[in-house]
Amino acid sequence: MILVINCGSSSAKYQLFDVKKHMPLARGVVERIGQSASTLRHQAGGDTLHRKVSCKDHHTAINLIVGILTDERYGVISSKDEISGIGHRVVHGGEEFEESTLITEKVIRSIKIFSELDPLHNPPSLSGIMACSKMLEGIPQVAVFDTAFHQTMPPAAFIYGLPFEYYKKYKIRKYGFHGTSHRFVAGEAARLLKRPLNKLKLITCHLGNGCSMAAVDRGKSADTSMGFTPLEGLMMGTRSGDLDPAVVFYLMKKERLTPRRISDILNKESGLLGVSGESNDMRDILKKLRGKGEGAKRAGLAIDIFIYRIKKYIGAYQAVMGGLDAVVFTAGISENNPWLVNRVAKELKGVVRKRTKFMVVPTNEELLIARDTHQIIDRRPQTEDHRPKTS
Ligand code: ADP
Repeated sequence: MILVINCGSSSAKYQLFDVKKHMPLARGVVERIGQSASTLRHQAGGDTLHRKVSCKDHHTAINLIVGILTDERYGVISSKDEISGIGHRVVHGGEEFEESTLITEKVIRSIKIFSELDPLHNPPSLSGIMACSKMLEGIPQVAVFDTAFHQTMPPAAFIYGLPFEYYKKYKIRKYGFHGTSHRFVAGEAARLLKRPLNKLKLITCHLGNGCSMAAVDRGKSADTSMGFTPLEGLMMGTRSGDLDPAVVFYLMKKERLTPRRISDILNKESGLLGVSGESNDMRDILKKLRGKGEGAKRAGLAIDIFIYRIKKYIGAYQAVMGGLDAVVFTAGISENNPWLVNRVAKELKGVVRKRTKFMVVPTNEELLIARDTHQIIDRRPQTEDHRPKTS
């Protein structure tokens, strides 16, 4: 059994996989960690349990997860010894990690260093890893990085037009995110198209709360729309996406904004929410579109910008790869509503090659994390002890 853990700042999601069955036996989430009203939601065998819990930190969350998985009534395993490996989603692997890796003391040190590049996501992942080292001592752990898949980008795609010393000094470059999702759906698309991945030119579009696209040239990421942080690229629920950096200075001066405030505006108050003035959720925007007046107009504009950017990146990535076999859509906005995908496909008819397929492929990052974890612990040397210390 492989336990997949995805720790955010106030949540810990989990899935327990029997890797041979490609299906989770149980899944759930501890939410509002560190707050007064923490909850645990657990699903297994068609039953859902939702209960209030006391959870002050990620250590307690992992304890709760292990407790419910081995619970007599709601659990699916009789003891934690049935867990053979733990896979963690880690957002930032910097330039060091090109693939998933067994977690050692050295890997932990690196994840800590990359926390500076991603102070929001890497620290909770580390807490999850440390908690598992303690609660599930002796079980090997694997880190699966969101940035790893994009490490194949060529320098022309990842170096910004800044003084080169800033790349050398601070590692300022495009990293790209959602890598596990892009890798998973590219593989699935090849399987569905019944063609080898290393012969395909694909564009993958992850359209969820965060949105990003990738040019996947013969199985390798050649470019991606998110950059140094997840702010670059497509317009998203609350993030602006691509923007002239001069707007930032101008706005800071005009509105007397602090760096923290402008960062909040670009990350939390822009995108679909900012343009529509209504909501960051595509469902609400589509509903608003059916109404009348200014609200409907602004909802229409938000959708137009959203789609325009997707089309622009499809054109750019087709040019980058010198061809295009399929455009693969995934995540909440694509998976739950065919309307947007159909509109993009219709508007690009005659622009892309006739044989180019437009397809929706549900993403499953957790399954890929479970598979990577299973493979890595299977081939690790048995004699060496790579486990991180618990203290
Ligand atoms: P995350 O990026 O957090 O994993 P998801 O992939 O679950 O997010 O996508 C969430 C988004 O999917 C929501 O914000 C919403 O905009 C969109 N969504 C969900 N259902 C629909 C639907 N029926 N129609 C359009 N958009 C939807």
